[in-house]
Amino acid sequence: MPRIAERVFQLGTETALDVMLKARALEARGRRVIHLEVGEPDFPTPEHVVEAGVRALRGGQTRYGPPAGLPELREALAAHLAERGVPAAPGNVVVAPGAKPLIFYGILATIAPGDEALVPDPGFPIYASMVRFCGGTPVALDLDAPQITPRTRLVIVNSPSNPTGAIIPEAQLRSLAALCEKHDLWVISDEIYRRIVYGPEPLSIAKLIPERTIVVDGFSKCYAMTGWRLGYGLFPSALAPHAIRLVINSNTCTAAFVQHAGLAALRGPQDAVTAMVAEFRRRRDAIVGALQRTVRCHSPGGAFYAFPDVRALPISAAALADRLLEEEGVAVLDGEGFGAGGAGHLRFSFAASLASLEEAAERFSRLVSRL
Ligand code: PMP
Repeated sequence: MPRIAERVFQLGTETALDVMLKARALEARGRRVIHLEVGEPDFPTPEHVVEAGVRALRGGQTRYGPPAGLPELREALAAHLAERGVPAAPGNVVVAPGAKPLIFYGILATIAPGDEALVPDPGFPIYASMVRFCGGTPVALDLDAPQITPRTRLVIVNSPSNPTGAIIPEAQLRSLAALCEKHDLWVISDEIYRRIVYGPEPLSIAKLIPERTIVVDGFSKCYAMTGWRLGYGLFPSALAPHAIRLVINSNTCTAAFVQHAGLAALRGPQDAVTAMVAEFRRRRDAIVGALQRTVRCHSPGGAFYAFPDVRALPISAAALADRLLEEEGVAVLDGEGFGAGGAGHLRFSFAASLASLEEAAERFSRLVSRL
């Protein structure tokens, strides 16, 4: 067999997919499974957004377009960012098929072999995977004492966080920004859950240090558009041309009809977002309240994940997740899939109906009582 390039062995994965396959195998054998492993809203894409996509498709928006995105979408996104107080010029906005490619571009453009990147731990596993793929070393970010060395090049923040739902307190974000300034570091601020919050909108680090921050955001979570694949990044001027080259070398462009749907989402009524967040809040209160009867569990400030601490139980989180699926038909994730910092926790996505969440919590406490 010809040699396989070493770098691909550095790539990690998302465990949600493995658990989903395991759950589907159980379902194929006739078992009913409550799916709390997936990280996507269970709501349909708003009707006016679907309509705009269909209209664009029928109107012939089926060809190659500009690599960085349609000018009208880049302008609307820049205006949207500026409205939030994040200084943005349309030329610095890069549209891509999902937020994930933008994380990829941001890391490819900033991490060279030997560099270190501070990444959230527990955190979205793709950050550490991509840093390793680029020959760098991911280092768990400790917000109280960030471990900056002469090799540190990049800090990744994700607030609200996947998997904890935590929002970085403003004071911590301000001191992190000052450190990034002092040590001349790049920042990737993954703000994909920014609009799914149960209090005031969190501060963006891009407001503090715009010239060194890449903002990553997208349409997947807030507009229930995971399958459409539409995300965007705001890149500092020094990085934007490189990000666009990366688009040209990989995706070419993002489907134009998808971008038209995104434009409708951005410009149209926002009541679907408001209603979805209100429903997530009800579910959060229900699942967190129910879990707190058996284990320790913070109420997350954003996103749609509960992250209970199960260290007081007599088995490991991994074994607990397995037994919860096999014995009780509830699919959740082992927190360790999000890094060593997630050990001893489980991730319950509450992007599922209130009734199924209540039943899942019931089944969880039934299993706990058998341990
Ligand atoms: N960042 C985080 C923190 C996420 O949880 C996800 C999706 N699970 C993404 C990025 C990717 O989003 P997209 O579907 O837009 O690629």
